[in-house]
Amino acid sequence: MNITLYPLGAYTSGYCLPFTIELDGIDQEEYGQAINKGLFEAHYKKGDGNVLSSRCLECDHVVIGSVEKVCPECGCLYIEVKATDEEWIVCDYEGVPAALVGEYDLSSDFFAYSDCLENTRLDAEVINAGLAAGFDLLCIEEMYIGEYDSDIAFAEQWAEDTGSINESLGWPYDCIDWDRAARDLMHNYTEHKHHYFSLR
Ligand SMILES: [Zn+2]
Repeated sequence: MNITLYPLGAYTSGYCLPFTIELDGIDQEEYGQAINKGLFEAHYKKGDGNVLSSRCLECDHVVIGSVEKVCPECGCLYIEVKATDEEWIVCDYEGVPAALVGEYDLSSDFFAYSDCLENTRLDAEVINAGLAAGFDLLCIEEMYIGEYDSDIAFAEQWAEDTGSINESLGWPYDCIDWDRAARDLMHNYTEHKHHYFSLR
């Protein structure tokens, strides 16, 4: 997963200075620091940028909108100061569900999502399907049933798994209106991209 951002002031003055942040395995603080570095490293006309920002020459830690005398991270006294933007806008993203990206930044839920991906037994695809189907992140694992080709395939498997009927019987299995059985069953379930979830 990654996201590409533009410094906003530069963008509105006609300079496209995108920087891309890899999102796999980073926490919120690391993400914030990656944005600060992106804003600091965006090179454009000297004197542009609406705030003065600081970069530590020892450890690279960046503070946006503040002139630091000492690096808050490592205590180093050698600080580079320059004018930078303090705001940004989203340019593009890959692998992040659309529901978790706004116009200006990742949604604050993104890090809960990324935590969930690391701790769940389910694939990212299933978590994404659950989000798209409107489930809360914390409910998806509990509500997930499985992957089926169609509502009918789901209904047939469900009938068999719950002991209602056995396909090997032939009769009356073959006589059942599976279309209708599936429609009835789907009152209590929902589907997104072939992933099925319980609604209760
Ligand atoms: Zn430092």
